[in-house]
Amino acid sequence: MLTTGAARVAGVMGWPITHSLSPVLHGHWFRRHGIDGAYVPLAVRPDDAIAAIRMLPKLGFLGCNVTQPHKEAAFAAVDLRDAVAARMGVVNTVMVQSDGSLIGTSTDGAGFMANLREQAPDWRPEQGPAVLLGTGGAARAVAITLLDAGVLELRLVNRTVAKADALAADLRLIFQGRRIDAVGWQERSAALEGAGLLVQATSLGMKGQPNHDLQLDGLPLSAPVAELVYVPLETELTARARRRGHRIVDGLGMLLHQAVPGFAHWGGVTPTVDAEARQIVLEVLRSRR
Ligand code: NAP
Repeated sequence: MLTTGAARVAGVMGWPITHSLSPVLHGHWFRRHGIDGAYVPLAVRPDDAIAAIRMLPKLGFLGCNVTQPHKEAAFAAVDLRDAVAARMGVVNTVMVQSDGSLIGTSTDGAGFMANLREQAPDWRPEQGPAVLLGTGGAARAVAITLLDAGVLELRLVNRTVAKADALAADLRLIFQGRRIDAVGWQERSAALEGAGLLVQATSLGMKGQPNHDLQLDGLPLSAPVAELVYVPLETELTARARRRGHRIVDGLGMLLHQAVPGFAHWGGVTPTVDAEARQIVLEVLRSRR
């Protein structure tokens, strides 16, 4: 499908943006669905993010994805935040409406859950406490989504325990009656005892970062291990968990699934997260090694 002057236009905004895989994925979906469209990287400096987002309708964009460090700016820039964005406190997808106004949403949580359901279909929210490593932006989205799905007990483990305390206090206000505990970093391995799910949402294990020294002995084998890091696709932690016999949920699936709502808006069709989409993104990742 050629890109013509009538193309549907969208993009991804960040600083830096050269590492983003979104142009590969959305470009693939435009071709796959035979849509005349263009999806471009938008390298925007932090000080210019709000103005750039507000300019999208004037430039004829149907919307854009927003990556770090602009997710808070996008939250401030849009005219309306949907209920998910309001709870997450960030916006990663901006959708231009027919009247030129901007609606913002956050798709990380939904992307995480769609991927968990796909790669660990036997997991049930009530099967045991969920242990979440990390309390950054991605972890907050995962925590809210797990509690929304019906997880009854959440253990928030973070190197800086004050941040886990703050997130736990926030979540207890939204999800009254659930057990939500902040756990200090020294207790990270003990926190796995009897858990029904482990989610790794720190930057440990990423290319260029140290690996986790988490001891998995206490983690029941029925608990899936979900990793948010996708470079490398298999981290040292998920490799160890796989060898122990855990079901592994990788970070690439979340990346693919979180892109669906944005494309549905600017592409006009709900795209499929299939083996072909995964393979195309994976090849680009591998070529960067
Ligand atoms: P963030 O807001 O910067 O949070 C980073 C988290 O990692 C914090 O909890 C931080 O703990 C912890 N951390 C960093 N270095 C550490 C170390 N040396 N030891 C222990 N903990 C450490 O980042 P984010 O946006 O939440 O992203 C977290 C990870 O998820 C990244 O690897 C990112 O690539 C990945 N991610 C994946 C997807 C996907 O689609 N698969 C989407 C979003 C994010 P402190 O609070 O103590 O600093």
